[in-house]
Parts: sequence; structure tokens; C-alpha cells
Amino acid sequence: MLPPLDEHNRPFWTGGGDGRLLISRCVSCERWVSPPAADCPDCGGELAPRAVSGRGTVFTYTVNHQPFNPAVPVPYVVAIVELEEQVGLRLAANIVDCEPDSVHIGLPVQVRFERQGQDAFVPVFMPRRA
Ligand SMILES: [Zn+2]
Repeated sequence: MLPPLDEHNRPFWTGGGDGRLLISRCVSCERWVSPPAADCPDCGGELAPRAVSGRGTVFTYTVNHQPFNPAVPVPYVVAIVELEEQVGLRLAANIVDCEPDSVHIGLPVQVRFERQGQDAFVPVFMPRRA
């Protein structure tokens, strides 16, 4: 489900249109910040959207068997993915293109995007082929 788009989170939800996962990065101390925020939680510096590699690992996950949304078949996997750019840089996303049973903590994953509505592209992750 998409949050309302605003000036801070818009790059994150629309960057997938160009195939880019855009994460806020502090222009002063270069810290990556997720979820999107108004300014850097470390130094108060200005944040600007920057593309990351889209590679990460599954930090934790749950397999959901309850159909909350008729458009999404169960079971499906909701994970917290830690991006490779920074320890602790994490975001919640579905894990797709694999059997839910095959997902495990530490699984290497790669982002792809699923279009939602007019101009939103939801980042989801699939297992990374070696
Ligand atoms: Zn900063």
C-alpha cells in the first residue's frame, strides 16, 4: 500500500519509472536515510535522492497467509531488506519471484519495480542470482 506522496518520499516511490531505487542521502555527512525524512537525523543536513545499487540482503521477514488484498495472492513474503550501501539502511518490501519457503535471513536480493497507479513504482525484491 502506498503512502500519500509528498516532496520527501516522492523520489522513492517514482524512481522505479527509470529503474532506479532512490534513497535519501545527506549532502553533508553522506549518510543514507530510510524511510524518507525532511532532513538528516545525524547532522540535520539537507537530504537529496540518490540512486543505490538495488542490492541487499533479507534482514528479517514474515510469510503472510492472510489475504488482505484480493489482488495479492497468498502466501507472500514481506521482508525488511538491508541495502548494501550502509549497515542498518533498511526498507520493508515484498520478496517476489520465488517460493516463500526459499526465503531466509541473509538471502541476497535485487530490487525490481511494480507499477502501481499512474506514476508510482513499488520496489520489490527478488533473489539475486549468483
Ligand atoms: Zn547528515
